[in-house]
Amino acid sequence: MRTMRAAVLRDFSLGLQLEDLPIPEPKPNQVLVRILASGICHTDLHAINGSWHKKPVLPLIPGHEGVGIIQALGSKVTGFYLDQKVIIPWVGRTCRTCSYCSSGKENYCDRQFNTGYVIPGTHAEYTTADFRYILPLPNDMDPVQAAPLACAGLTAFETIKQLRSKENQTLLIMGMGGVGHLAIQYAKEFFTRIIAIDPSELRIDQAKVFGAEIYSPEQWLALNSKPLVDAVAVFASDPKAVTDSIKVLRNGGTLALVGLGKNKELTLPWFELVTRGIHILGSHVGPISTLKEVVEYHHLGKANVLVETKPLADIRIAMADLAAGKNNSPRIVLVP
Ligand SMILES: [Zn+2]
Ligand SMILES: [Zn+2]
Repeated sequence: MRTMRAAVLRDFSLGLQLEDLPIPEPKPNQVLVRILASGICHTDLHAINGSWHKKPVLPLIPGHEGVGIIQALGSKVTGFYLDQKVIIPWVGRTCRTCSYCSSGKENYCDRQFNTGYVIPGTHAEYTTADFRYILPLPNDMDPVQAAPLACAGLTAFETIKQLRSKENQTLLIMGMGGVGHLAIQYAKEFFTRIIAIDPSELRIDQAKVFGAEIYSPEQWLALNSKPLVDAVAVFASDPKAVTDSIKVLRNGGTLALVGLGKNKELTLPWFELVTRGIHILGSHVGPISTLKEVVEYHHLGKANVLVETKPLADIRIAMADLAAGKNNSPRIVLVP
């Protein structure tokens, strides 16, 4: 039997273990993919810690930012071929019949199976994926650059798509990690002024090249006259980032909540939100149609992911670095 290395979570108390498992057989609607790169997302940390109220299905191979090469095709697969480069996202399979699935909003389907959370993910040498939820990648795209587009890029692009309108000219971005540093680059075309806040000096230095006005929370607090912004995108997981940002949002402005913290609840200023006519929107990853747009955007060289690579064998170290905020680049990508 041919085997593969995979990072497996069997018990929350044990954490991830590297194991040799049989290479899976693709079901009729699946392709077998040899993974070339697999990005680590904060959701992976929540998965292995079981920190969300909706727990992952164990045993679990996490990872939902995969790029790889098709090695085998299920009997019902159409439109894909052997040796094709593909990208595998978080939304791994949905019901295909509800109103969300029928209107291109399958990322809000109530019966979805998420890659690396409910179904096996991409932190392995091989995985299987439903062909209706993956995309082909141009051959000349670097797998390490492309992998984070499956979640970080998609999430940032979808958020900016929702916020870009004529009335929204000034944008405040809270948090410049994997998602936030991409959002700055996608927002450039649509906003006349972008302000970004992050507590990390390293992230501030790294994001300077993207042309936003960047502050640490202390510098921001010390500003005598803060500009009012038309829209805010909160990618940070600190509830304070949400409440602080509302203070500089103009009346009638839009607050996009994207990052998720450990807490299930968030306390908001009820009176202020009502009397100032603030719009709140939640945004969760994005549909496959947006993933297509993100891939094209990067293929045209219009944005760049700040990444560092680690071997799959070092996944525990990589996860610990991410948990401690010690990753040098906003995104860590595992290479089998
Ligand atoms: Zn993710
Ligand atoms: Zn559905």
